[in-house]
Amino acid sequence: MKVDIVSIFPDYFAPLELSLIGKARTAGTLKLAVHDLRTWTSDVHRTVDDTPYGGGPGMVMRPEPWGQALDAVASPGATLIVPSPVGRPFTQADAHELATLPHLVFACGRYEGIDQRVIDDAADRMPVREVSLGDYVLFGGEVAVIVIMEAVTRLLPGVLGNADSLTEESHAAGLLEAPVYTKPQSWRDREVPEVLRSGDHGRIARWRRDQSLLRTASRRPDMYAAYPPENLNKKDRVA
Ligand code: SAM
Repeated sequence: MKVDIVSIFPDYFAPLELSLIGKARTAGTLKLAVHDLRTWTSDVHRTVDDTPYGGGPGMVMRPEPWGQALDAVASPGATLIVPSPVGRPFTQADAHELATLPHLVFACGRYEGIDQRVIDDAADRMPVREVSLGDYVLFGGEVAVIVIMEAVTRLLPGVLGNADSLTEESHAAGLLEAPVYTKPQSWRDREVPEVLRSGDHGRIARWRRDQSLLRTASRRPDMYAAYPPENLNKKDRVA
């Protein structure tokens, strides 16, 4: 997968050189480039913002550098992702979909956001998705891009050592994952549940399924209500 990120703070993306994303880049699974939006300015101050039409607080990102940046980095077949609090909430299903695409271009807004014409103009030439991380406002799109790239990269073939992690984790099948434990067996007088030490794979699977359903029902009633009833089996204890 090819990824281009445009931002006025390219240094923000240093974490994308670490850990499994760094390894995916080294392995060539992920070809990621970060670009400084100011490369596409033409004035001595390398200006990227101006006051909003209609008045109001803050500054808006000017369209010219953005237009040139997207012309330069978005190849045919690219999808433009614009992190924005007015976008559709980002989900695991979105991560799966993005992981199948050949080329993602991310446009990181700052200040009061990017002039709307940039998004409208890009939409004439490529698929554009405005994506929100949640119902709150960040300083800029950089952190949102790092989050999206974490979610997408771990779904790329070969990135995770054990692909089973992807099918058994939270949000994989519309439920939250059961609690997890490791050694030691006893820690501060707290024991690992007996069933997980039993070696009885049937009982362990049943316990994990029960915990997953109970957790989802208590912590995310919205998710539990949306869980398809046909996916419940006869032995499921419906919470
Ligand atoms: N004036 C905008 C509004 O009220 O909708 C907020 C602009 S915000 C201060 C600056 C930038 O941060 C946005 O252009 C976007 O790139 C990013 N951003 C802020 N909150 C976000 C969120 N919840 N999800 C994704 N990106 C966000």
